[in-house]
Amino acid sequence: MSIETVAVRLGDRTYDILIGAGLVARAGEEISKRLPGIRTAIVTDANVAGSHLAPLVASLDRSGIASTVIALPPGEKTKSFDALQVVVDGILAARLERGDAVIALGGGVIGDLAGFAAGIVRRGMRFVQMPTSLLAQVDSSVGGKTGINSDHGKNLVGVFHQPQLVLADTEVLDTLPAREFTAGYAEIAKYGLIDRPDFFAWLEKNWQEIFAGGPARVQAIAESCRAKADVVARDEYETGDRALLNLGHTFGHALEAATGYDSQRLVHGEGVAIGMALAHRFSSRLNLCSMDDALRVEAHLSAVGLPWRMSDIPGALPDADRLLAYIAQDKKVSRGALTFILTHGVGKAFIARDVASSEVLLFLKENLPG
Ligand code: NAD
Ligand code: ZN
Repeated sequence: MSIETVAVRLGDRTYDILIGAGLVARAGEEISKRLPGIRTAIVTDANVAGSHLAPLVASLDRSGIASTVIALPPGEKTKSFDALQVVVDGILAARLERGDAVIALGGGVIGDLAGFAAGIVRRGMRFVQMPTSLLAQVDSSVGGKTGINSDHGKNLVGVFHQPQLVLADTEVLDTLPAREFTAGYAEIAKYGLIDRPDFFAWLEKNWQEIFAGGPARVQAIAESCRAKADVVARDEYETGDRALLNLGHTFGHALEAATGYDSQRLVHGEGVAIGMALAHRFSSRLNLCSMDDALRVEAHLSAVGLPWRMSDIPGALPDADRLLAYIAQDKKVSRGALTFILTHGVGKAFIARDVASSEVLLFLKENLPG
């Protein structure tokens, strides 16, 4: 099967994302071509290590790349100061230099943590992303945002640190739990909804093949990476356009917080799916887009098995006032006005900086179950 290449164009920091089957087994070759003579530290989690670490180490060995392994427990709690210290100490204990590379082999948790460590050890080491979850392949491994969580909130401590290479092996997704795959798909749909209406229409036709694996899966991941790479190249540090990538995330983050980040009830991509459906419904409520568009989005999310309304979340939710408080706490608030990503229709999202909180409250009251 062929390998797709997508470039993230950032001047002399431009890098490639390779997408396709068998890239773990070819990692040594691809890395030594671009970063000759380096040594590496592989950061991974226990779930991923079980199936994918040994083939990676063997591939690096064949190319003469020495590696040390830093394995951490799986889960969001690993994006912590304690885990960061383990990674930093592991890199230093292996005596890696600035020109050596940290390899992140895992989902977004490992990518964010390992990237942050690479960004700060010796004031910035080289970094290779090997994303193993669908979410990480289409979103978190691209664009250079790294970091950990604080008691004050998620992703509050970190740096922008771009990788030198991203290797997305689409075969490793076969061991990903089905629910995680479906959740990651929400971020793929997001790119269509932001500004790629033809891609969204293609997803509506081909989603079953994407879930089954094969060429359509590679195509969908590559198109998603192109979409994200475009936005990142325009606005690396999120002073403008990059905020469009938050479509569905203002409602989504509020729902994640409201469910106590309990992954039994809601994982990130599921929150984003409900958030995207709500963003379209809200836009239609404000006469910005047609109800037909909102219904079309809901129908697709529902078809692939994603939750799309608040009543799809098991257990009780807080009332509209509490939910609005969670929305206001989210970082996309400036001087009292709420910033939302709203839309004029499928593929026509825009940044709305002055959304009245009274409108949001009313909308939440109409859409909360019960
Ligand atoms: P994750 O890293 O926790 O992975 C989800 C689960 O799947 C974990 O249990 C993991 O061990 C397991 N897993 C991963 N790959 C596997 C595989 N191939 N086989 C079997 N199990 C596998 O979570 P995620 O959804 O990948 O990423 C979420 C994180 O990404 C969040 O912390 C979020 O803040 C971050 N994120 C960052 C960015 C960014 O731009 N940096 C963007 C979006 C999300
Ligand atoms: Zn997201």
